[in-house]
Amino acid sequence: MKVESKKPVLIIGGGVAGIQAAIDLGDMGVKVHLVETKPSIGGRMAQLDKTFPTNDCSICILAPKMVECARHPNITLHTYSEVKEVVGSMGDFSVKLLKKARFVNEKECIGCGDCVTKCPVRVPDEFDMELRRRGAIYLYFLQAIPMVMTIDRDHCLYLTRGVCRICEKICTREAIDFEQTDAEIDLNVGAIIVTVGFDPFDPTSLSEFGYKRHRNVITALEYERLICATGPTGGQLIRLSDRKPVKTIAFIQCVGSRDVKNNPYCSTVCCMHAAKEALLAREHDPNVQSYIFSMDVRAHGKGFQQYIARGEKEYGIRYVRGRVAKISENLEGNPIIWYEETFGSIVEKMEVDLAVLATSFVPRSDTKELAAVLGVELDHYGFFKTARLAPFDSTRKGIFVCGCCREPVDIPESVAQASGAAAKAAEIVTGDQS
Ligand SMILES: Cc1cc2nc3c(=O)[nH]c(=O)nc-3n(C[C@H](O)[C@H](O)[C@H](O)COP(=O)(O)OP(=O)(O)OC[C@H]3O[C@@H](n4cnc5c(N)ncnc54)[C@H](O)[C@@H]3O)c2cc1C
Ligand code: SF4
Ligand code: SF4
Repeated sequence: MKVESKKPVLIIGGGVAGIQAAIDLGDMGVKVHLVETKPSIGGRMAQLDKTFPTNDCSICILAPKMVECARHPNITLHTYSEVKEVVGSMGDFSVKLLKKARFVNEKECIGCGDCVTKCPVRVPDEFDMELRRRGAIYLYFLQAIPMVMTIDRDHCLYLTRGVCRICEKICTREAIDFEQTDAEIDLNVGAIIVTVGFDPFDPTSLSEFGYKRHRNVITALEYERLICATGPTGGQLIRLSDRKPVKTIAFIQCVGSRDVKNNPYCSTVCCMHAAKEALLAREHDPNVQSYIFSMDVRAHGKGFQQYIARGEKEYGIRYVRGRVAKISENLEGNPIIWYEETFGSIVEKMEVDLAVLATSFVPRSDTKELAAVLGVELDHYGFFKTARLAPFDSTRKGIFVCGCCREPVDIPESVAQASGAAAKAAEIVTGDQS
């Protein structure tokens, strides 16, 4: 149903939840400003290979939504931008955005990539979890929206040392613009939806797992990039340390989750994403053997238990009940998993080719800063606080919260919450509740 909207809605965060909320509001006839801090919308879902429980290619189902969002007549995208100030109250917020300079003219760049091939700089690629390197001028990822380059001001030779400008000479469309500066944008909106997602927990501090010390211990998000056709190996299941094909994998659950010293809560998604990742390993190579080490398996969604059972029966996934105490490494670089098998109360060890840590979902490192700008409270764990019986209401009227910045949730739940938050915001700007 299209309705008369008085003011636009601001959505902060362009992951799957932000995209869904924007499309829902846009379809209702409400104008939306969607702000994304990265050079492209897409969020974490764009980094995933496939998604449980259907094993759909993640970007194949996300990309059409990203395109719909970008082309929607009621949605204005502000990528590579941040919210700096919010004043006012429900129905009438004044917002200041900072649009960071890309040093590339968005109207002229056609994403051909000619400039990228000639840039002499190589730095770790954040989108690929630093498993490969990119230039100082780069496309955030292959299906990025907008499909335009960004120059990394911290690493570009011209912007840091005043030399180079090769990209400028290469670009026949004259899209490179070193004169570009950061710009302030003022908006007046009726409601705000916060959907800034999560960070994966950094397991370096848990020295027992040897992450960063052992060559073949990686995180689950790194694994997602490793097996993805657009990832650093073109989708081959090999170890980056020695390019050896992977034949045995240990998936270690609850790394940083359900752990009183780190994050006492359950991250809810990891039991299922580990099953998916083990299942995909077999699809890459029918000779791969996967072991999942967990305290218990939390498969709470529709069709999830059947998915786990299929993994065990058809893909030979073996579940080991017990918490891993330590990972060491032998001379070949193979991780050795030391664990207690709690059914038999036996302490065992197992040598594998690769260990994958299912790290917990944690609030983004800049969450406190954003909460201060928005004037809202965070909960005990640092996620945005919401009311028990008004699950999308933040502690400030007119500001709503959904997706993984509220609590760890999977994609279907993020999308469902986004539609809920969009409906709440629409009530305000369409006059039903202002
Ligand atoms: C290893 C792994 C595997 C997974 N596999 C699956 C799976 O198979 N199936 C499934 O259902 N779920 C899976 N998930 C969970 C899924 O990734 C999340 O449910 C989903 O990404 C949550 O979407 P979101 O929009 O809430 O957050 P995000 O995807 O984190 O998006 C948030 C967006 O907000 C942007 N942002 C952050 N701060 C700001 C700011 N201050 N201003 C503007 N923008 C900002 C971010 O750049 C990002 O684009 C997996 C997660 C992991 C870690
Ligand atoms: S900046 Fe120029 S060369 Fe680089 S991708 Fe854009 S149009 Fe192509
Ligand atoms: S000017 Fe900067 S971005 Fe352009 S090619 Fe040189 S280092 Fe790369």
